[in-house]
Amino acid sequence: MAPVTDGVISGLEALRAEIEVCTACGLHATRTRAVPGEGDPASDLMFVGEAPGYHEDQQGRPFVGQAGKLLEQLLASIGLSREQVFIANVLKSRPPNNRDPQPDEIAACRPYLWRQIELIKPKVICTLGNHATKLLTGNPAGITRVHGRPQPAEINGVSLYLFPIFHPAAALYTPAMLATLKEDFLKLPELLQSGAAPAAVGADQATDPPVWRPPQPPATRPPANATDLTLDAVAGPVVDAAHPAGDAAASPADVGTPPPDLSRSSSDTGAAPSDSGPPAGTAVPTGEPEQLGLF
Ligand code: URA
Repeated sequence: MAPVTDGVISGLEALRAEIEVCTACGLHATRTRAVPGEGDPASDLMFVGEAPGYHEDQQGRPFVGQAGKLLEQLLASIGLSREQVFIANVLKSRPPNNRDPQPDEIAACRPYLWRQIELIKPKVICTLGNHATKLLTGNPAGITRVHGRPQPAEINGVSLYLFPIFHPAAALYTPAMLATLKEDFLKLPELLQSGAAPAAVGADQATDPPVWRPPQPPATRPPANATDLTLDAVAGPVVDAAHPAGDAAASPADVGTPPPDLSRSSSDTGAAPSDSGPPAGTAVPTGEPEQLGLF
């Protein structure tokens, strides 16, 4: 774990303050609240989603809708809670109607994510879906091609592994994708334990990490539907994140370290060979995440 110094905390606080009043792109005009991100600043594991959805926009917190419930279930499958990781997004403001992030919005928001990475210094960043994956890898290869395989990278001076996985919002619709997402997730502990400064994962992990979370005003809306999701459950058509590939990004340099071989537990089952669609043989409801670019 990277040490959490006062500088890290104050750096995250300063970022939060900047993000909350940011007018660098047009999304500030339509957002309810900016969503800076939250979690354990000392965590070795960071998640980067795409953009806030409705519930995130209302609450100013990332992944608090159905996709967030699934993410929490996935984390529990490897012995972690959301408080033990750091969760952020490519965009800090919600695109109206969950439309695709635009290249100018991604470019405007990227420095915030880069500074978060610099402060948190994660060992592994899980990129959720196409947008985060393409931005952080600097490569146009889509999530269907690259999921489940760690990629060494250097971002803002931080050497780490990128670990692309399907976006939980996409997996909510598609059983085969959910199965692949679960399999990929189970590779995380080994990846975290590999490399120069591995992280401990599991029950012996600290149970009360210093969670950094922006100060919350009293809730003015009811919280997200708290319906229990199991990893085998496939929810209905709740779209709280969207968006196909946008491509604005600096390319993190490949640090040249061979990634750990996770093939023992790896499987591309259910993954299509192309980026343009869902896993082979997978039925995706018309108008659902496929078109929203979640995979
Ligand atoms: N989907 C995302 O990509 N980010 C969130 O914060 C919520 C849903």
